[in-house]
Amino acid sequence: MTLARRAAHLQGLFEGMQLDETKKETKIIGEMLDILAETTEELQRLSNENAALRQLISNNNDIDDVLDELEEDVDIDDGADYQIICPTCGEIMYIDYATIELGSINCKNCGELLEFDLSDLEEEDI
Ligand SMILES: [Zn+2]
Repeated sequence: MTLARRAAHLQGLFEGMQLDETKKETKIIGEMLDILAETTEELQRLSNENAALRQLISNNNDIDDVLDELEEDVDIDDGADYQIICPTCGEIMYIDYATIELGSINCKNCGELLEFDLSDLEEEDI
């Protein structure tokens, strides 16, 4: 029997006993059963949410979609065609082709001089 059904069953038993509702004990038991009902309801809600999240994570396609959406949300300057990662500090920068043609830039985070091998790029384009 699920928690929710057991709580409902207990509530039914309690009501069937027709205890004196003016007594403190009866009020306390009634309050406890209310709390129990709400707690099982909340647990069920969390359990459903957890199952939905697990489903999302277990489906790689969905995760890829989520990551794609996140990447689209990242503000990238117009004309920024290449992503480079500073080998020194790991900073990710987006640069355009004109910047690559310069041959090198300084990492905006650590100042490391990053040089580009332009001949490699041109060979791939042919
Ligand atoms: Zn750097």
